[in-house]
Amino acid sequence: MEQTLAILKPDSYAAGNTGRILAHLEAEGFTIRGLRIVHLTQEQAGAFYAVHAERPFYGSLVDFMTSGPCVPVALERENGVKHLRQIMGATNPAEAAEGTIRKQFATNIENNAIHGSDSAENAQIELAFFFSSSDLIAAQ
Ligand code: ATP
Ligand code: MG
Repeated sequence: MEQTLAILKPDSYAAGNTGRILAHLEAEGFTIRGLRIVHLTQEQAGAFYAVHAERPFYGSLVDFMTSGPCVPVALERENGVKHLRQIMGATNPAEAAEGTIRKQFATNIENNAIHGSDSAENAQIELAFFFSSSDLIAAQ
C-alpha cells in the first residue's frame, strides 16, 4: 500500500464537485485516510507550490489556490502515487484522456480540478503539509 496526497482544488469545491470526485477516487480503490477543507493563505499556497516559484504562472497559480476553500485528501492504494496521476489525467484538460478527473471536471490548464503528488517522497512531504500523523486513520 502506498500513500499519496490529492487536493480537490478551489474550482472543484466552488462548482460543488467535491463529492463526485471523492466518489470517483473511492471507486478507483483508494481509501480515504484523512480529509480536510482549508482556505489556504498566500504564504501556504506559495510554500506548497514553491517548486514552481520561477515559473511565469506561479503568481496566478497562488491566486487561484487561495481563491476559495480546497479539500486536501490523504489517500492510500496499491501503487497509489502512480495510479492517482493516471486517473487525474494531463495537466491541461484539453489533453486529458477520456474518463479522467481533469477531462470531466477541469476548466483549463490552471483551473484543473485536482492536485496529485508526483512521487512517493513528495507524497510524504505533502501529506505532512496538511495532516499530522494522529489525523490519519490507520489501516483497519
Ligand atoms: P499538480 O502539481 O497540481 O498535481 P501537475 O503536476 O499536473 O499538477 P505542474 O506542472 O506540477 O502540473 O503544475 C502545477 C499546477 O500549476 C497545475 O496543476 C496548474 O494548476 C498550474 N499550471 C501548470 N502549468 C500552467 C500553465 N502553463 N499556465 C497556468 N497554470 C499552470
Ligand atoms: Mg505537479
